Amino acid sequence: MQFKTINSNKTKSIALVAHDNMKPSLIKWCHKYQHQLAQHNLFATGTTGALIKKEAGLAVNALISGPLGGDQQIGALITEQKVDVLIFFWDPLEAQPHDPDVKALLRLAAVWNIPVACNNASADLLITSSLFAEPFERTVPDYDSYIAERT
Ligand code: PGA
Repeated sequence: MQFKTINSNKTKSIALVAHDNMKPSLIKWCHKYQHQLAQHNLFATGTTGALIKKEAGLAVNALISGPLGGDQQIGALITEQKVDVLIFFWDPLEAQPHDPDVKALLRLAAVWNIPVACNNASADLLITSSLFAEPFERTVPDYDSYIAERT
């Protein structure tokens, strides 16, 4: 696999997802960083997005609810390089009906080298990084050479 370097902008596209038991933590986190988050483009799975809008007053592009395909929508956006950061408060203590989708989303985030926070402490560290609101360089699979090698 060949890789190439791309830049994410100062203004990031941030995907936010929280499983039901984790939603209160994510809402609290969104309140805490409301001013920083308001400077970026936010995407979220359906219920998470509706709660962030209602309770943290942030504008969010709400996708389909996670169990109905929202995690996969975020995965697709990652492959199109339309998501720069994933904040995913998944529940380590409860099985989800869409566990395969959860695994698939985390896999695509790794494939496309997206910064991911899966808990509060990591999310704190990510958003307070000096790079968070600056252009950020990362390597991603070079799709053109991938196809050229296979054809
Ligand atoms: P939800 O989906 O925001 O629609 O609850 C989250 C998830 O469980 O993936």
